[in-house]
This record gives sequence, C-alpha cells and structure tokens, in this order.
Amino acid sequence: MPLQSACASSKEERVLPLLYPETRVRHNHSKRNDTIPQHYAEMSGEELDWRIAKARAKLGERLVILGHHYQRDEIIKYADFRGDSFKLAQLAAARPEADYIVFCGVHFMAESADILSAPHQKVILPNPAAGCSMADMANIAEVEECWEMLIDTLGDDASIIPITYMNSAANLKAFCGRNGGIVCTSSNAPAVVNWAFSRGKRVLFFPDEHLGRNTALKYGIPEEQMVVWDPKDPMASDTADEEIERSHIILWKGYCTTHMRFNVQQIEKARAEYPGIKILVHPECRREVVEAADLYGSTEYIIQQVEQAPAGSQWAIATEINLVHRLAKEHPEQFIFCLDPIVCPCSTMYRIHPAYLAWVLEGLVEGEVINQVIVNDEIAYWAKVALERMLAL
Ligand code: SF4
Repeated sequence: MPLQSACASSKEERVLPLLYPETRVRHNHSKRNDTIPQHYAEMSGEELDWRIAKARAKLGERLVILGHHYQRDEIIKYADFRGDSFKLAQLAAARPEADYIVFCGVHFMAESADILSAPHQKVILPNPAAGCSMADMANIAEVEECWEMLIDTLGDDASIIPITYMNSAANLKAFCGRNGGIVCTSSNAPAVVNWAFSRGKRVLFFPDEHLGRNTALKYGIPEEQMVVWDPKDPMASDTADEEIERSHIILWKGYCTTHMRFNVQQIEKARAEYPGIKILVHPECRREVVEAADLYGSTEYIIQQVEQAPAGSQWAIATEINLVHRLAKEHPEQFIFCLDPIVCPCSTMYRIHPAYLAWVLEGLVEGEVINQVIVNDEIAYWAKVALERMLAL
C-alpha cells in the first residue's frame, strides 16, 4: 500500500500560514515561488533522478545538499549529509566552500543554517511551504504578549528564563537571545533546563509542551509546579494567577502532530505481541508514552540505540515513519517497526518532493537562486546569541 493511502485517518490537513514578515523568504536576488513549473510536476521519477544527478555534477563542490532524517528516501539518497536539525545546521557552517546549501527539511531548519553559515553562503529550501506545524504554534506576537502578562502577574518576583526548542522560528530564538534565554534541542534539553534554573526561578518553555514537561520531570519538577500556557486563552482559569505564581515552568501549549499519534495502548499491544521487545520513543511524545517506554531520546539517540544493538534485537519505535522505515531497511539483522501501524509521514517534511529539488538545482545551474531563506540581520544576531549560549554548554 502506498504510504500516503495508509494515512486516511490523519486529520492533518493544515495548510501552513504565510511565513512571518520578519523571517519570510526574501526576494532580493532570489525568487520565492511556491508554485513549481508544471513541467517539473509532470516529470517521471527517472527523469527527475537524472536531472538532479546532472545538476549536482555540474555544481560540484559549490553545492551541499542536507537531508533531515525525516525526509523520504527519494530525497535522502541525494543528501551529502543526513542528520537532525541541529547537526545539519552545524554541518552547513562547516562547509564554507559550498556557495549553495540546499536544505531538504523544513523552514526553521533552513533559517538556523542561514544564521550559522558564512555570509557568502546561500541557503535554499526547495519548497517554501515546508514548514513545521509545531513551530507555527508559537509566533512572536503571542510570545511577547505572554511575556508581558507573566511579568505583570509576577512583578519583581518574575525571574523567568525563556527557552525555545530548536523547532521554532528565528524571531523566537532572537527573543530568547534578547531576554537572557537560550535554545535547546531534544538531546540537550536537560542540560539547558539546568542552565536556566541556575540563572532564574522560572522557565518559559516553547513551543513544545511535551518536550518541556518530559524534561522538567526528569529535572525533578513535579507536575503541580508546571502550568500550561494556552496562547488562545491564557487566563481561562479563575486561578490562573495563583497557578503562575506557584509554577516553576510555564509550558507553551504546542505539540508535534506526528508524535502525538503514539499512545500507551500501542505500547501494551507491542509488548503482548512481541515479548521482550524494546519500546523506544521520542520526547515530543506525551508524558505517559515516555513513561511507559523502555528508552526515550532525540532522533540521533534513537538512531544510535539501533546502530549499537546486537543482531536479533527487537524495537517498536515512536517517531517519524520515514526514519523508522529507513532504520528497518538498513538493519535487516534486527526487527524494527513503527509503534503506530498507520502512522503518517510528517506532512510538512513531505512537501520536499524530488521535483522541487530538481527545479532549484537546475535554477542554480542557470545562475538563478530560487527559494533562498534569509534571516534579517537583527534577528540573526540575537538568534545566534541564544544558539551560542546552547553551544557553550
Ligand atoms: S515531525 Fe513534528 S516537529 Fe518535526 S517537522 Fe514535522 S511537525 Fe515539526
């Protein structure tokens, strides 16, 4: 069955909003185009393959293609490097000889690559509609409003350190940079939370409620000292002020649609069907899923666990399906499957189709830069401050 048709039960039909004005793809010397020319859309897989290969060969060392682990195989096979969002942004910075960094991932990743890469390097996101539904759940206006309300409520006692997950727009990273905060990834979130509590009494964590909660629990903060901030109705509860006053961590009400599909019943079923199986999940899953699992950790951690496991190991994994399928294919000596049998690919990652890759690469061969991502200088400066605080840990 084609992967897409297995997703009939998915409710993920969200159309990405326009990029925020401060960070939207600029048009100076580059062309933003959401609509791919029709003839690319009509090309066969074989034609796209040879066109991509030919363009790559012509561009040589001037080009580096980065592929996030959640990309489909038809894209990953062209990636010079694979990784999670942070590793790829660092790799981009480590390849100054490449004039063009084609980022096969989603928008916030291309922004981070632009912030960390050299000024002469151009970062290209083949399809500008490839965003991240979780990142879009917090925008700068909402975060600034939240910040003001928290300061109003807490007064001199506020002492809040903002932490944004890597999966956020550049202007939110910049907000953290300007306000004594920091960025975290799913691998270093515990160390980042520790850093924050050595500087303040409270943490405002956005945009992923679940990564924030799972990390806070690991740090030793009980659920009673956490409060969830719903940007659509922040003070809905009559006791909102008291809840905020006694909180140590304020969790933004955002989530990853891909990781929210996993549940404890799936874990129980996997254990009943395959005694001894190891359950390995991502910390963007709900608390109860993380607690019921044998192991949890970032995308890179999940890959490491499988790579280090002996032949015959059995894994039920709760993360994006393209990565799980690839791990199963690359480790036939182990038994690996996705915890949710009808899990869908991340719908926004899926927007990078080989046709978009062929289009932007052939544009580069012709001297035309299509869909470049440029973060404006002030946002880039403060976002880099927050990223560098993380890197210094
Ligand atoms: S898997 Fe989730 S967090 Fe990652 S890009 Fe997709 S929606 Fe965003």
